[in-house]
Amino acid sequence: MTEPPKARRSLHARILAALGAGAVAGVVVNQIALRSDRARTIVGYLIDAVAHPIGQLFLRLLFAVVVPLVFCSLALGVTQLGSMRHLGRIGGRTLTFFLITSAFSVALGLAVMAVFRPGEGFDDAVRQQLMTAYGGDAAHLRQTADQQNVGTLLGVVNRLLDSVLPRNILAAAVKMDMLPVIVMALLVGGATSVLPEPHKGRLSGLYEAVAEAMVRIVELAMRLAPYAVFCLVFSVTARFGIDLLRRLAIFVMLVLGSYLVQLFILYPVLVRTMARMSPMEFIRKTIPIVVTAFSTSSSNATLPTTMRVAEQELGVRKTVSGFVLPLGATINMNGTALYEGAVVLFVAQIFGVHLSLASQAAVICLAVAAAIGTAGIPGGSLPLLMAVMAQVGVPPDGIAIILGVDRLLDMGRTVINVMGDVACAVWVERTEAAREARSP
Ligand code: ASP
Repeated sequence: MTEPPKARRSLHARILAALGAGAVAGVVVNQIALRSDRARTIVGYLIDAVAHPIGQLFLRLLFAVVVPLVFCSLALGVTQLGSMRHLGRIGGRTLTFFLITSAFSVALGLAVMAVFRPGEGFDDAVRQQLMTAYGGDAAHLRQTADQQNVGTLLGVVNRLLDSVLPRNILAAAVKMDMLPVIVMALLVGGATSVLPEPHKGRLSGLYEAVAEAMVRIVELAMRLAPYAVFCLVFSVTARFGIDLLRRLAIFVMLVLGSYLVQLFILYPVLVRTMARMSPMEFIRKTIPIVVTAFSTSSSNATLPTTMRVAEQELGVRKTVSGFVLPLGATINMNGTALYEGAVVLFVAQIFGVHLSLASQAAVICLAVAAAIGTAGIPGGSLPLLMAVMAQVGVPPDGIAIILGVDRLLDMGRTVINVMGDVACAVWVERTEAAREARSP
């Protein structure tokens, strides 16, 4: 029942066209809404009553399959891998890739802001305006950051335990906390692999069947994608303050430019040198992932598409994709890491806070940790970003200055986050294939 490649390609083209059309329609409608109160009301109605539900239907279909898909793919992968040593090897490579690319990304974000210094000489009146307009949102985020802040050592240890293996694993799954779901799937897969037959075979069959059924739901969601992507992008651009974009233009362009460096230089170089894959092929085949990540702003919502494309288009085996991609969507956020470095330095420049090289090195470590802890949902990084700012003496409320353009930049950084996972998966796939070729 899986669609033939040609039909898939035409669907991809339609989704891409919908993204462009949604952006243009949104900008046009945004300008019309500025003309009168009546126009603004009609546009608000169009967004809330038409575009929003269509976009949400798509998003919710994707979210609905994430937990069962990740759990079953991973449990099946571990059962089939059989030995924990094998898993340790894949895990070691994956984590090394994630850590190095994340640290590089924060350093890139810092370097770009240090060279161009967009925050120096930032208009004081504009700063005040932005702080007033978005100060409420920043205070709200601060509350979330404070709730996550656990003062004592015991508190920190318990928080760490909770985020990896909480007492109530089902509650974590219900909240879509992916790290505990991943840990549980590893445990269940490991336990299944040592069961005698017929139990082992039956359970593997069950994991495989559930994962397959979830992929069918993703395929259904993808049929809706051209309309949903149009609506999601339209909702963002129609509401967007173009005027705000103008005032933060240099910052926005620097961040978007750095994303492009990651997407078109860093990943292609890694894919070419480490995975021996043509960068053009890599980019062409991953277009559905890029479009889904861009329009949903969520690594989690994109995960089912990421897994499907990695397996069906890039030839990544299920045992690798089922392990690397869910882990990546949860802890590998290169775009977010870059963004955090860039925002910390930009806001520091605006407030005249000097960050020494040692503080910038601290930002790299903190931002990598924060990116690991970031939930793969829209705006997931913001509370932790405030915590990083506070740690290095940059006023966290200064985040208000960039909040108005955050959604747009979130769309871009989610693409980078997810593409980093895919680059890692094709590399691990290549190393596994090479190993098999050496010792069949
Ligand atoms: N939206 C991002 C993601 O899901 C997380 C973030 O940076 O806010 O990957």
